Amino acid sequence: MLQGVPAVGGVQYAPVIRPGARPRVDDAPIAELAEPERAGEAERLLAASAAVADRLRARAAHATGVASEVLATTAQLAQDRAWLRDAQKRIEAGSPATQAVGGAVDKIAEALSKAGDLMAERVTDLRDIRDRVIAELSGLPEPGVPVPDRPSILCAEDLAPVDTAGLDASLVVALATSLGGPTSHTAIIARQLGIPCVVAVDGLDEVPAGTMIMVDGTLGTVTVSPDEEEATVAVATSQRDADLARQWTGPGRTADGHLVAVLANVQDGAAARLAAQSPAEGVGLFRTELCFLNRDTEPDVDEQARIYGEVLEAFGDRKVVVRTLDAGSDKPLKFAGHPDEANPALGVRGIRIAVGNPGILTRQLQGIADAARNTGTTPWVMAPMIATAAEAKAFADEARSMGLTPGVMIEVPAAALLADRILEHVDFLSIGTNDLTQYTMAADRMSAELATLTDPWQPAVLALVAMAARAGAAVGKPVGVCGEAAADPALACVLVGLGVTSLSAAATAIAGVGARLAQVTLAQCQAAAEAALDTATAADARAAAMAALS
Ligand code: PEP
Ligand code: MG
Repeated sequence: MLQGVPAVGGVQYAPVIRPGARPRVDDAPIAELAEPERAGEAERLLAASAAVADRLRARAAHATGVASEVLATTAQLAQDRAWLRDAQKRIEAGSPATQAVGGAVDKIAEALSKAGDLMAERVTDLRDIRDRVIAELSGLPEPGVPVPDRPSILCAEDLAPVDTAGLDASLVVALATSLGGPTSHTAIIARQLGIPCVVAVDGLDEVPAGTMIMVDGTLGTVTVSPDEEEATVAVATSQRDADLARQWTGPGRTADGHLVAVLANVQDGAAARLAAQSPAEGVGLFRTELCFLNRDTEPDVDEQARIYGEVLEAFGDRKVVVRTLDAGSDKPLKFAGHPDEANPALGVRGIRIAVGNPGILTRQLQGIADAARNTGTTPWVMAPMIATAAEAKAFADEARSMGLTPGVMIEVPAAALLADRILEHVDFLSIGTNDLTQYTMAADRMSAELATLTDPWQPAVLALVAMAARAGAAVGKPVGVCGEAAADPALACVLVGLGVTSLSAAATAIAGVGARLAQVTLAQCQAAAEAALDTATAADARAAAMAALS
């Protein structure tokens, strides 16, 4: 199974097809053009770029919607002055047209790559134009996607917008690329066509055309030569689930009416505004540290209040849980002054940064309290990486002194084990299954090799979730889950069966979770939880729960 980045959800199973070869530009030094030939060569370049642009415009005229826009924009790029002028200068200096085009595009592509994510993704468009113009100059067929004779999955390094724009969704049923990001043209077109798409797949280039693969655009995986029966079932299930998710509008509840709030995880105002349009009943985790990853200095209280206020405003009177800075380990913040540590995941991170940074937590809580006042809302606040009841008490006392409702995250096994004592001080718990799994299994959450250990279906992790949920139920306080586990519809049902009272996940995953929950009873969730707890491996836990839920 190859891992990539999910771009458009859904599962498909079909053979691989690959776009036709692109012309190679020989970059070995070649003889300069003689002076009298240069003007003609420049003319040839202009004619080639015009021919490429004309063909793209003709295709744009026959396409509709985004596809048509993409083709028209690419046609413009074929005659864009920036690269054409550069290429012409190279021809004037003696370079043949094919080399001049290669050199000019490479120069601009490098500048775009340096400019960052969004600009870098436009590099693919520019390289596509280069290949088309070079093919035209060399008298070669235009590079691009073959028309398959049966439903197929198109795999490539990256797909040029012009290739994807002309696709027929009944023949190209999914896309997978080894480069590209979730906002690339490939992903945009896949979304428009409504076909699953995974980008940045490690190892995809080694999978030859004709190989049967299964693309899971929700999990971001590509399985090479999977079991045919299993793959066929996975495709059918995903199609049925997608239909149900499209129809789900909330609120979160089981088939027999047991209410479970389904919430969104967000990282800033923009994400919150998007999530507010989904069926999310609120925000279960606002990761504040993600607002400041590129900041050298700590934002003052007023700026923090403005930033947090955007998220509070987006959700109005719906619930919002703001997490205080979870700096350190995989998310270092420059202004938190992290010490050099051999084991940063076990070091000064989360609530622990408050000790070496006097006032940082107080100022953040002040910013949250100000944002609450400015927006007329009543957010809850929670601290990450709590390990002891004393830490929970200190945080709760300070938050309460500012009029905020305090809770803590359960991410450290010690906190799950003593959840009852922590609950003496706070009003709610939120289980971070990503870190709880990492620390329970002693397996780095970033490690690809340890993926079976860092699986939140591990029965040991489920046992700790059960302990925390029981502790909450005993005193009538809410216990939610805001880690990735809550985004897995089947696991979400198990969490509910374990006694979890809310689920918070990426906004795109919420409808799938809510729709699944609506199909099962609380008793089924409890049976699935019991069956999963009774196993010894993550795979067995999943299988046992699936049987109880079906
Ligand atoms: C978690 O650990 O599950 C969690 C939600 O926090 P983060 O992923 O931000 O560490
Ligand atoms: Mg965490």
